[in-house]
Amino acid sequence: MAIQGGLPVRAFMHARGLNRYKSCPRGCTTDETTYHLFWECAYAQDLLKALSTELGAWIPTTCITADSVMYGLFPGSHALGDLQGCWRLLCCLKDVLLFSRNRLVVGKKETSTLVCRKMIHSLLRDYAALDGSDDDSDDET
Ligand SMILES: [Zn+2]
Repeated sequence: MAIQGGLPVRAFMHARGLNRYKSCPRGCTTDETTYHLFWECAYAQDLLKALSTELGAWIPTTCITADSVMYGLFPGSHALGDLQGCWRLLCCLKDVLLFSRNRLVVGKKETSTLVCRKMIHSLLRDYAALDGSDDDSDDET
């Protein structure tokens, strides 16, 4: 749904007459689109920076672009395992960004970057357990 722009973010809901507001609930002056939620918003960028060590273990952080986050497209050539690991991490990032956004909009509760990072690590462990792969990303601090 994120790729197709079908997530119920404010701009999507506003365009369909389902929400009065279309700006980002985090106080940005920009419309809250899927692109804004996952890439453009300062909150998303802060979380990406907080995950730079984890991302850098797979792919140089300079290779993480908006297209990487949105579509899994990475500039340069990388090993398949690195691409898969990075994409999994970015998908967990998007899950947590959407969760924290909904928590803010519906529950009026902020979620800190630290808590988001811990949630991402937890999701990564869950996915590793589900597919039976080893996951050495539990060295969080
Ligand atoms: Zn924003």
